[in-house]
Amino acid sequence: MTYRAEYIWTDGVEPTYGIRSKTKIIRDDEEPPIWGFDGSSTSQATGDNSDVVLKPVFTCPDPLRGQNNILVLCETLLPGEMSPHPTNTRAQARMADEKYVDHKLLFGLEQEYTLLRDVTAKWPAGFPESGYPGPQGPYYCGVGVGRVVGRQLIEEHTTACIQAGLGIEGTNAEVMPGQWEFQIGPLGGVEVGDHVWIARYLLCRIAEDHGFVVSLDAKPIRGDWNGAGMHTNVSTQSMRENYDAIIAACEALGAPGKPEEHIAGYGDGIEFRLTGAHETQRYDTFSYGVSDRGASIRIPWQVEQNGKGYIEDRRPNANADPYVVTALLTNTLGEALSS
Ligand code: ADP
Ligand code: MN
Ligand code: MN
Ligand code: MN
Repeated sequence: MTYRAEYIWTDGVEPTYGIRSKTKIIRDDEEPPIWGFDGSSTSQATGDNSDVVLKPVFTCPDPLRGQNNILVLCETLLPGEMSPHPTNTRAQARMADEKYVDHKLLFGLEQEYTLLRDVTAKWPAGFPESGYPGPQGPYYCGVGVGRVVGRQLIEEHTTACIQAGLGIEGTNAEVMPGQWEFQIGPLGGVEVGDHVWIARYLLCRIAEDHGFVVSLDAKPIRGDWNGAGMHTNVSTQSMRENYDAIIAACEALGAPGKPEEHIAGYGDGIEFRLTGAHETQRYDTFSYGVSDRGASIRIPWQVEQNGKGYIEDRRPNANADPYVVTALLTNTLGEALSS
């Protein structure tokens, strides 16, 4: 049979790598082959040496095209040596995963995002065309006109994620009007990254049909409006078994040099979002605490009560690269909990 494979990869546009995709028609039920693209058009190569290789690494049903069509997430490789392209952050996540495989890390990512009216205005769809809505309060988990916008898009996206077989766990309207969240997990580091990137692709793709722009901007509106994060919940086998490992993990994340290293990989414009207000700790301060949404790391109250479980790193931005975030956490926690 003939089917369509949508090849999806991340580009090299600074400061926040974005999603690209193109379609391949595959005949006679062949497997999706290695392919390539013009890297000079995606900030991944120069015009005189423009080829970048696409290597399929994760496939799932394409819920938008249906039938036997598929989505094909790819790693980017350099032609010739076939080594990871410098912008291929999945390769870093793979190496961290392999190194600390015995710790059986699990991640749950809470992807927040903002729907905008159009590309040029950069104005949230939940805001009146000119001027501001009423202050924050009624919008989080809101129901009804004047509280939420884009519900139909959110429902279509959720259905698509389920049909694609992604580990989507839930959705909610967020604190700022036009802001929403979906959660993916609990999955291994590379896997959660794959699912988040596919879910981002589906969101942007379905939003095309609704005329919304999806923004992963960490602080779309300055002032008294919540930013958008990608809270990263993480556990190792030992954290799922005892509370000492929970505290050891928090201490490891606060060890000298570690907060700066993590903040540097947690997304663009993080200092505008992690201000110490709006349920954040400041970007230049590290703290952890039970139930504390003003801390860098929150230990959920059930985790303290049960004496085991996971921690929530509240610092990553909505625009962070999930592969970079899970690689950082895997290396820091894996190293600390091995000794
Ligand atoms: P909140 O909004 O209260 O911060 P959410 O319900 O949005 O929390 O997200 C909780 C996240 O915690 C989910 O993504 C889930 O996968 C994750 N999670 C639950 N248990 C574990 C665990 N043992 N290890 C890692 N992540 C976990
Ligand atoms: Mn949440
Ligand atoms: Mn949230
Ligand atoms: Mn959270």
